[in-house]
Amino acid sequence: MKRRQLIQAATVGTATGALGLSGCASIGGSRAQVVVVGGGYGGATAAKYVRMWSDYGIDVTLVEPNAAFVSCPISNLVIGGSKTMADITTPYDNLSKRHGVKVVRDMVAAIDADKRTVTLAGGAQLPYDRLILSPGVDFMLDGLPGLRQPGAQDKVLHAWKAGPQTAALRRQLEAMPDGGVFAISIPLAPYRCPPGPYERACQVASYFKKAKPRSKVLILDENDDVTSKGALFKKAWADRYAGMIEYRPKHKVVDVDVATNTLKFEFNDDLKAAVLNVLPPMRAGEIAVKTGLATANRRWCEVDFLTFESKAAKNIHVLGDAIQVAPLMPKSGHMANQHGKTAAAAVVALLTGKPVNAMPVYNNTCYSFVSEEDVVHVASVHRYDAAQKTMLTVPGSGGLSSAANELEGRYALAWARNIWADSLA
Ligand SMILES: Cc1cc2nc3c(=O)[nH]c(=O)nc-3n(C[C@H](O)[C@H](O)[C@H](O)COP(=O)(O)OP(=O)(O)OC[C@H]3O[C@@H](n4cnc5c(N)ncnc54)[C@H](O)[C@@H]3O)c2cc1C
Repeated sequence: MKRRQLIQAATVGTATGALGLSGCASIGGSRAQVVVVGGGYGGATAAKYVRMWSDYGIDVTLVEPNAAFVSCPISNLVIGGSKTMADITTPYDNLSKRHGVKVVRDMVAAIDADKRTVTLAGGAQLPYDRLILSPGVDFMLDGLPGLRQPGAQDKVLHAWKAGPQTAALRRQLEAMPDGGVFAISIPLAPYRCPPGPYERACQVASYFKKAKPRSKVLILDENDDVTSKGALFKKAWADRYAGMIEYRPKHKVVDVDVATNTLKFEFNDDLKAAVLNVLPPMRAGEIAVKTGLATANRRWCEVDFLTFESKAAKNIHVLGDAIQVAPLMPKSGHMANQHGKTAAAAVVALLTGKPVNAMPVYNNTCYSFVSEEDVVHVASVHRYDAAQKTMLTVPGSGGLSSAANELEGRYALAWARNIWADSLA
């Protein structure tokens, strides 16, 4: 499709808006085109906010292979059995109906940064003035040869991208006889959602306490210690799941024997379990890596934190879990949502000749369910530091809440509903 034809297909009208922009941002007389790759926490938010903050003057096309958004936050409760897949699923309809985002159900197969086009797996080409890339993570399986065998990944699951694997891991737990062992392995940080594996251990143990009380949860962590909310998780394991959850640090998985459900470690004895849940090491989503944007150890994409523009390619803005984070910035959905808004504001400014915000500030709250209802959280505020050109945490902001109670649980569910609405409604 020619760039001009795509532009002429645009339909949504113009007005003067909240940012004081002229409604129709144009490049050489044509409406500006933004393509967003990935409809997760980062991409969906950016798509919506580019539309809103350009007063619907910039055309936005969102490319996403999944029919609906399925949230990783709260997905551990599906695995524990207290929530359903429907509870964590939100359609993309409102992005198109309310905000005029053109949602294309496809994968981006290639990005040509020089020509400023993306090619979809289905063959179509989309031109862009600015590309926003939020592809999440993909798994590094080179060090886990057993998982690369045909069918292995259908048996030994990660369930670290919410969707069919979430439901499949739940089914494996339901099918497991009482007295079995559920073993979850954690890669060296950085990985998506530092507290997520420990929350998952709590959810599985909470289910076992009710339904399979002779069963055990083993946490096999490559890190030296619990990577997030350590004291809070350890207290929950001791107070609520004594004798049921066992934590073993410094356990590096080097292979998985899928036929016998056995983990092999660098230094420790092999371990066989009824249900294995292996979280492989992670890096930026494949499309970012193959476009040459993962400049930090060929794993993560370095960006300018004022605009989220890639340091490797002009006019491409990378968000969410795929980026090389600033100090103490977690790979979280909340963070990806904040990246989405910061990048959206910057892209609108750049496309309309306005100044980019010189001091973005954003926050993060990460809730973890230690039972079906009770929750702990950690929060932080991050502000741009012009001297160091990075985001730094604001001294005295945020901190840990150890309440571990049901009120925090209600806040956590409200947080989820709010962020889903902010990103997708
Ligand atoms: C079990 C678990 C619990 C978690 N709990 C929390 C929590 O409580 N709070 C919190 O803040 N965070 C939590 N997280 C982390 C959070 O899910 C991620 O940080 C967040 O999803 C990152 O957003 P993203 O946009 O970078 O990636 P994603 O949300 O994964 O979105 C990436 C999207 O890109 C699409 N995509 C990939 N490649 C392409 C391509 N080539 N073409 C088109 N589309 C593509 C994918 O289909 C996907 O929809 C949790 C994660 C897990 C696994």
